[in-house]
Amino acid sequence: MSFCRLKTIIDEGDTVVVYLTPRQMYRVKVDRDEVFQTRLGALRMEELIGKPYGSRIQCNKGNVLVLDMTPEIWTLLLPHRTQILYGPDIGMILMNLELRSGSFVIEAGTGSGSLSHSIARTIAPNGKLFTFDFHQKRVEIAREEFREHQIDHIVSVQQRDVCRDGFKFPEQSESESSTTTIKVDAVFLDLPNPWEAIESAQNVMKNGAKICCFSPCIEQVQRSCQMLTKLNFSDIETIECVLRPYELRKASYEKLKLNQQFETSNGLSADPQESMNVDDGDHHHNRDNDNTINGMNKKIRTSEDDNNDNDNEEEEEKNSDSKIMEKDVNKNNDNNGTTINYWVTYMNTEITGHSGFLTFATNFIC
Ligand code: SAM
Repeated sequence: MSFCRLKTIIDEGDTVVVYLTPRQMYRVKVDRDEVFQTRLGALRMEELIGKPYGSRIQCNKGNVLVLDMTPEIWTLLLPHRTQILYGPDIGMILMNLELRSGSFVIEAGTGSGSLSHSIARTIAPNGKLFTFDFHQKRVEIAREEFREHQIDHIVSVQQRDVCRDGFKFPEQSESESSTTTIKVDAVFLDLPNPWEAIESAQNVMKNGAKICCFSPCIEQVQRSCQMLTKLNFSDIETIECVLRPYELRKASYEKLKLNQQFETSNGLSADPQESMNVDDGDHHHNRDNDNTINGMNKKIRTSEDDNNDNDNEEEEEKNSDSKIMEKDVNKNNDNNGTTINYWVTYMNTEITGHSGFLTFATNFIC
């Protein structure tokens, strides 16, 4: 297996994803003598070998899917040795550092290798990731994982305190490190004191190379920005990647005299969705405060109101607005209108999931 490309057939030794639901995924190493227990029953690893990835495997109480591992899923399932970076931040980092196939990149610290896997796939097959951590055990485990995941030709991991000793490339001796001719396209720092490593990083950065410092609190961001400014980095920018969950709820409204009111001047039907007001049962969110849709009258309704509506399918069929009829439509006999039910998305106003701030800058040497 390799995290850089997807495979078609499951081999012994592969780390696969056993998928039950989006919230029930497991990383499993395929060993023919092992049995993996799921809530749907036992999964004999021997059965997987030689099967195509994506196969459904029958267990006692149901099927499981066996999928190939990707850096994204690895981030969700990896064994944590440190705090890690997750998908939204990783996506911003890869994009804003402008990483591509062939890029040379420095990372510190390696931590649990969550970001390292995504960088490796992005820069494959000819790029190089030089990753550093001062924690010996973490370095050893990461090295073993990179080897198992067949990205060790792209990623080299070294034990080093980069704040104290700066950066050094694998083949260099200590004395050569200050006179290196190797220069990288990008540097990523996820350290408690990133500002202490910025000057050494600049020494190994190409002209125009990008740097990113990840810090959970704004005081750390300020210190990094001060250092970046002092060292004449340009385009300094800090962003925060936050998750804002949306949810689906049902909303409905009534249309009166459907046929006439939805005809536009050229005879085509207008789509009421474009300026629909919705009802979440508690509040009315009106885009246009006069409670009209494209100048048409309507009454905001709740789902409870809908229970009083009588179905009249014949009437509906006479209705010429097919776009609306495809929705969930009930004829309301009381006021000669029609209730249209829509699924609408609601924004959760509480934003959770702050992970940290990403400060980006460019090393322009004039
Ligand atoms: N970005 C990583 C990931 O996605 O898995 C997590 C990095 S973890 C939060 C920070 C790591 O930095 C730790 O493993 C720690 O040992 C390492 N570290 C802290 N200070 C360091 C230093 N001066 N030099 C090298 N590594 C350091």
